Amino acid sequence: MTAPVEADVLIIGGGGAGCSAALHLARRGARVVLLERGLVGSQASGANYGGVRQQGRHPAELPIARRSHEIWRRLPELLGTGCEFVQTGHLKLARNEAEAAELVAYLDVAASHDLRLEFLDGAALRRRFPWLGPAAIAGSFAPEDGSANPRLLSPALARAARQAGATLLEQAAVTACQHEGGRFVVEAGGRRFRAERLLNTAGFWGGQVAAWFGEAVPVRPHTPNMMVTEPIPYVIEPNVGVAGGNVYLRQIPRGNVIIGGGHGMGDPAVPMSRPLAQVTLQAMRRAAALVPALEGVSVIRSWSGIDGMMPDKIPVVGPSGTTPGLFHAFGFSGHGFQLGPAIGAILCELALDGRTETPLEGLSIRRFLAPRPMPAGAAMT
Ligand SMILES: Cc1cc2nc3c(=O)[nH]c(=O)nc-3n(C[C@H](O)[C@H](O)[C@H](O)COP(=O)(O)OP(=O)(O)OC[C@H]3O[C@@H](n4cnc5c(N)ncnc54)[C@H](O)[C@@H]3O)c2cc1C
Repeated sequence: MTAPVEADVLIIGGGGAGCSAALHLARRGARVVLLERGLVGSQASGANYGGVRQQGRHPAELPIARRSHEIWRRLPELLGTGCEFVQTGHLKLARNEAEAAELVAYLDVAASHDLRLEFLDGAALRRRFPWLGPAAIAGSFAPEDGSANPRLLSPALARAARQAGATLLEQAAVTACQHEGGRFVVEAGGRRFRAERLLNTAGFWGGQVAAWFGEAVPVRPHTPNMMVTEPIPYVIEPNVGVAGGNVYLRQIPRGNVIIGGGHGMGDPAVPMSRPLAQVTLQAMRRAAALVPALEGVSVIRSWSGIDGMMPDKIPVVGPSGTTPGLFHAFGFSGHGFQLGPAIGAILCELALDGRTETPLEGLSIRRFLAPRPMPAGAAMT
């Protein structure tokens, strides 16, 4: 094999997290090479529901969500496209008193992170959103939240990263890594790449990358079931969810309603994922109970995708517990699309400065394991 390609930072995985990291690193002048097994954005980052939501997030990831929100607002100047991000607000509904109490309890969490959130009782809810049915008895509305087009974000980040000088290689699956003499040597597509720092942004497969470095964690595949309807008259302006999360929906201005709820199936080894008809029907029934205008509307497409789910439903973000120079960001547990832009900024700071301004408490990989360092020079495949 020929001499390795030298870089300052190598990135495994070209979803929203990895492409954003490549962009931030290249803008700081680092030599960066991103290696993507398929095409950028071809896994969860391109298949998701498109919810860009801060409301309801675990307090440990709210600082990242707040930082990401600022980047989402600046996407046009950063990327030359806003990726169809619209701040329509996110409306979270309660269908019983226990769920309403959950919404009330979250008001304090939001306030402690300066997240604007307004509680609406049944009467206020129906005045403001007359298209809602009787199933919703209360709601909380986050005006800064909204949605975006998941097909656009990763390719736009990748394009901007390339323009800033990053090398992004597609159809380049990483098959082996070594850490020797303080440097990572990574094999992909019959070539070798070498750098002092390595970013693990491999989505669900980030668990496999972490295991190569003696950090096996209990990540499992998460396959949300998605569908889109035929167009109907545009009335549903906000992104809508429910306490408990078993259904969520948003309407795009041309009329189609995108609905999620329940789980499809998938095999990360292939990788492949697909929706399940019974789950699609059940989500449609739940959606029509919230928005009666959806009764009898045709579903024109359904799909799924694979994300990494951690046992505590929050991602692994931060330095490796075993290997200096390795930084993880994976296992986003079904809600990493909104976080992606900030994750790239954070990984860039960790890789180049050794620290980040964004608190990462509670997200370390160390919460899952007692680290066992790999022997120096050991091969990891
Ligand atoms: C159906 C669905 C709906 C969702 N809805 C939302 C939502 O509304 N809002 C929200 O915030 N989040 C949502 N999510 C979650 C969100 O999509 C993910 O958390 C986020 O996209 C993860 O981004 P990522 O860059 O970490 O991973 P990915 O997008 O999975 O990217 C990882 C990349 O790594 C590559 N890779 C893996 N192994 C290797 C290797 N060995 N060599 C090279 N490359 C490799 C993969 O090919 C992949 O492209 C949803 C997820 C799904 C599946």
